[in-house]
Amino acid sequence: MVSPQHEAPPSPEGRTDLRADCADCFGLCCVALPFARSADFAVDKAAGQACSHLRTDFRCGIHERLRDRGYPGCTVFDCFGAGQKVSQVTFGGVDWRRAPKSARAMFEVFPVMRQLHELLRYLTEALDLAAARPVHKELRRALARIEVLTRGSAESITALDVNALRGEVNPLLLRASELVRARVPGRRKDHRGADLMGARLSGAGLRGASLRGALLVAADLSGADLRDADLIGADLRDADLGGADLTGALFLTQAQLNAARGDAATVLPASLGRPAHW
Ligand code: SF4
Repeated sequence: MVSPQHEAPPSPEGRTDLRADCADCFGLCCVALPFARSADFAVDKAAGQACSHLRTDFRCGIHERLRDRGYPGCTVFDCFGAGQKVSQVTFGGVDWRRAPKSARAMFEVFPVMRQLHELLRYLTEALDLAAARPVHKELRRALARIEVLTRGSAESITALDVNALRGEVNPLLLRASELVRARVPGRRKDHRGADLMGARLSGAGLRGASLRGALLVAADLSGADLRDADLIGADLRDADLGGADLTGALFLTQAQLNAARGDAATVLPASLGRPAHW
């Protein structure tokens, strides 16, 4: 897969621990995750094998030229702060080069921690939604529980059933989303899980729509009204967001934006940054 050695994206509510901090990470995404030669990566790499561009200081040697060098996949990955949590908390700041015996465990924990941090990120965003107040208590409880799990031992983290956790968290996020979108006037479109690959949605009125998990690869969403739309898990690779309005879009991540196309006229949610390649 990929590496987030791009500018650290903002995260909701200023939680710096839920955004990638490559300076405190042992380059885990550049080692632990596999990737296959494709339009996203110039070469094949197995899980557990360090990328040839990873420097000894755990920074990327081609960070400024990733797209030009055939590694756009590295610019669209977000660990949600899992890298520094595993490096500094789970493994106490001892890296896999200094302690090669712990390397395998570290690389196994990282993808699990990433999923836990992704859930924390969504829960944190939901807790910032005033309209979702009726579920705030349950959201806080879930957040606290997962926070505790992320501080467990390497063994306890890798043994977690993350799908079960997702199954507990998703209904809460869905309820939060519904509470927010219910305030949007008019009829709201439901494209949950829809295959909209390459769809022509230029200028579409999608305010408050559910696009949860929708396949929007290469869709034309230029000038679309996506205010308050729920975009959790939507695949926006190569989608055209030029001039689209994403104000208040729910559960949209920096990685999703980085994978899409956009321009100076695209209106972004307050917590996300404009990708450098737009
Ligand atoms: S190219 Fe750079 S960012 Fe991508 S995996 Fe290799 S070292 Fe990491």
